Amino acid sequence: MTTDAQPATALTPVLSRNWDRPDSFTLQSYRETGGYEALRTALNTDPDSLVNMVKSSGLRGRGGAGFPTGMKWSFLPADNPKPRYLVVNADESEPGTCKDIPLMLANPHVLLEGIVISAYAIRSSQAFIYVRGEVLHVIRRLKHAVAEAYDAGLLGRDILGSGFDLDVVVHAGAGAYICGEETALLDSLEGYRGQPRLKPPFPAVSGLYASPTVVNNVESIASVPSIVANGVEWFTAMGTEKSAGFGFFSLSGHVARPGQYEAPLGVTLRELLDMAGGVRAGHELKFWTPGGSSTPILTDEHLDTPLDFESVGSAGSMLGTRALQIFDDTTCVVRAVGRWIAFYAHESCGKCTPCREGNFWMVQVLDRLEKGEGTEDELDKLLDICDNLLGRAFCALGDGAASPVMSSIQHFRQEYIDHVEQGGCPFDHRKSTVWG
Ligand code: NAD
Repeated sequence: MTTDAQPATALTPVLSRNWDRPDSFTLQSYRETGGYEALRTALNTDPDSLVNMVKSSGLRGRGGAGFPTGMKWSFLPADNPKPRYLVVNADESEPGTCKDIPLMLANPHVLLEGIVISAYAIRSSQAFIYVRGEVLHVIRRLKHAVAEAYDAGLLGRDILGSGFDLDVVVHAGAGAYICGEETALLDSLEGYRGQPRLKPPFPAVSGLYASPTVVNNVESIASVPSIVANGVEWFTAMGTEKSAGFGFFSLSGHVARPGQYEAPLGVTLRELLDMAGGVRAGHELKFWTPGGSSTPILTDEHLDTPLDFESVGSAGSMLGTRALQIFDDTTCVVRAVGRWIAFYAHESCGKCTPCREGNFWMVQVLDRLEKGEGTEDELDKLLDICDNLLGRAFCALGDGAASPVMSSIQHFRQEYIDHVEQGGCPFDHRKSTVWG
């Protein structure tokens, strides 16, 4: 629901509220803007009440899938005597997705405060932040923030005199996209080669070291302190009934002012483009992704689709990570899709045949088509490969790779055929660069 006081078009700076402070990443700055007050409240609250609070808020996973966070927490088996773990998935790497990294750089303490509250709620005394190996500056910043929190008694033994203990380890991956998949991440954290495990069992039941484990995205955990501080009604007053709250909308590509726009779920691309200065001057919107390259592309027909889980689903796509990549009329869709599939082929872990072979073949076919060396029959071949990928791969990478191929053929079949008929690409790629 949106209220008169909080129209869907408004920016809602919650997680980004102190980003204009040059020292926003320091403990002192975070505390000056109310940081760690929610932690005091939480540590005086019964853990189960906190789980119920997050459940009632309707907060849904911000890593892409949108699984209800509080429900995930409540799946931890009550009768399992093994230690429980909290693992923050900070391995952001989906093409277009770029919200967690700026959040951790600008405000690592909001994540740490969320970690302490969430760990206390699920009764865990060991948390990990699994962060992408390539982002050394983020790793350094997180480690610095963790050290500051230990020194201030916000981590370690007897946090703020509550009797609650928590240790946090910042663990750097080695730069594999597949390690963002939660079970591959757990394998990697255990020291094995990162490859997905079959689910079920879900990590909540058997995760890290076969113990009950909650794996949550950075933005999900960072949203928890604001819910504790402001209450469930404050959170549910934003967004829609089934997609409550706010989130980052990351606009990139052919847009006048790319960047992070924090707004209630249910905002539309048209409203976001109004705030971002529109599609770059002199050009029209051609297609866009609602949530990174694994979500089926949409077109200008969908400018007014509310960006919530249900509405984007009804439009034939998925909300995903709210990574809105904007492509204007200078973009060759075959080339754009080919680039994404080359990424998925490179990042496929190779464990399952549909993903390993399917992506390999799609790259060959898309490359031929883009160069004008393909045939119209190969469009059906592409769709056939997608058919053999969808729902048949070990993890979501397979479905993710099939999405842009299928949706681009659905919306732009004629453009594929133009490549075949003209014996080459009809676009001048130099015009589609964002610097052009
Ligand atoms: P999923 O739907 O299988 O699971 C989502 C979460 O809910 C997981 O944590 C899972 O353990 C939990 N869950 C689901 N059912 C459960 C149950 N019955 N009991 C306990 N827990 C349960 O999705 P996924 O494969 O984890 O993620 C796919 C999404 O990841 C895609 O939609 C995509 O948008 C996103 N993605 C994000 C990035 C990124 O960089 N942030 C990269 C690639 C993909």
